[in-house]
Amino acid sequence: MLDLTAKVHDESRQGEAYAPFVNDPTLYRKKFYIESYGCQMNFSDSEIVASILNTEGYGATRNAEEADLVLLNTCSIREKAEQTVRKRLTEFRKAKENKPGLLVGVLGCMAERLKAKFLEEEKLVDMVVGPDAYRSLPGLIEEAETGQRSVNVLLSRDETYADISPIRLESNGISAFVSIMRGCNNMCSFCVVPFTRGRERSRDAFSIVAEAQDLFNRGFKEVTLLGQNVDSYYWVNEAAEATTQNATGDAITFGRLLEMVALISPDLRVRFSTSHPKDITEEVLTTMAKYENICKYIHLPVQSGNTRILQLMNRTYTREWYMAKIDQIKQIMPDCGISSDVITGFCTETEEEHQDTLSIMEYSQYDMSYMFFYSERPGTLAARRYKDDVPEEVKKRRLTEIVNLQNRLSRESNERDLGQTFKVLIEGDSKRSDRDWMGRNSRNKVVVFPKGDAGYKKGDYVMVTVTGSTQATLLGHIQK
Ligand code: SAM
Ligand code: SF4
Repeated sequence: MLDLTAKVHDESRQGEAYAPFVNDPTLYRKKFYIESYGCQMNFSDSEIVASILNTEGYGATRNAEEADLVLLNTCSIREKAEQTVRKRLTEFRKAKENKPGLLVGVLGCMAERLKAKFLEEEKLVDMVVGPDAYRSLPGLIEEAETGQRSVNVLLSRDETYADISPIRLESNGISAFVSIMRGCNNMCSFCVVPFTRGRERSRDAFSIVAEAQDLFNRGFKEVTLLGQNVDSYYWVNEAAEATTQNATGDAITFGRLLEMVALISPDLRVRFSTSHPKDITEEVLTTMAKYENICKYIHLPVQSGNTRILQLMNRTYTREWYMAKIDQIKQIMPDCGISSDVITGFCTETEEEHQDTLSIMEYSQYDMSYMFFYSERPGTLAARRYKDDVPEEVKKRRLTEIVNLQNRLSRESNERDLGQTFKVLIEGDSKRSDRDWMGRNSRNKVVVFPKGDAGYKKGDYVMVTVTGSTQATLLGHIQK
């Protein structure tokens, strides 16, 4: 692990386990324990799994030792992510010896990538379940209970779990993820996602709006619309003629969906992630500008700043095209925060090409980036076509340069906020002190400030003036 101060990846939530059902008086016959790894999509899927298991009479526990069923929802995006899961699995060996009936299941992308091979490689695993097969979990558990190890890794063209209401167990009760689509049709050459999560499909727009409305009714104040590539969201109500709900039968684009969710209430903040630069449209940008409650923040992964490398990555845009997109965003929303994902040391990347990545980061003035060095994934286009020929120490040195630059950009961005006043949604106590609130502004920056005697509570909006900052946090005080 690199000892770098900037956020290399959102490590804080990796392996997070669910809290038990809060305020749930039911005495459950059986308990499950679930840990999630990887992207937000996996965390969101674990909430769907929790809902499916709950209808089967399982209650959640945060204590693996009292569980009858242990599930790991896994990630395959980099080799390190897979190694983490393998290591974690060995830790359940002892638990299984102590409790013979305990079932261990592997869910998500690693399950999909390795399929039945997983059962051969990891003897303690009883179930291997791909991301489109969670409805079959009860049957698979039953099978595993008879001693039959079970696998379902079928990918689907239409599964969106639209009718399943996720159980939000880890939640602060203020912000929630809402999955709007699954899979990915882009074939970025480095990426395993199209193989592990299948074809792209968009979820019924009305079920999305209903879920967001229900969250708002239950006191949530922020929803993040989730997908690998939200801007290619596209849903047509085929039943439009039969019902009057969407009488025109128009296709619903992402811009339209954003508007539908924003219209639930001006007090409900709307965020989204992730945007592929090639797909984010002017319609989306102008919709963002039009509604105050759509947060002015875009995660727009660049991956590389060099056109030749972008071509090898199959990203379908050039350096210049990406820069023009940044210009367009800033022209439509001058105060919009932008963040990125960067991969360093991709196949054949030269020193000059690496410099192009540094300069595009500088041009884009990212508030934050997730930064990785290239990790070859079996079966991807890049693994089949190109040689992973940048030595590891060069990859790491380039990553350090990128991280150092991002640290400076984040610091400068925070310094520009000094003296400014932002509307902040209070998410809870700050990590360091229960005398301070922690919240976020529209640009997704974390703001910490003393509670004082103003009488605010979690979920309130409050105007905060920035008086200082650390690397990743703005510090301020409530505007009198
Ligand atoms: N769909 C999103 C997108 O297109 O930006 C996110 C995909 S992935 C879950 C998150 C990030 O992991 C990618 O943006 C990329 O920077 C990184 N990533 C994916 N494959 C990788 C690989 N083989 N090696 C290193 N980083 C990788
Ligand atoms: Fe992977 Fe590219 Fe799809 Fe993102 S858009 S999930 S990086 S293939």
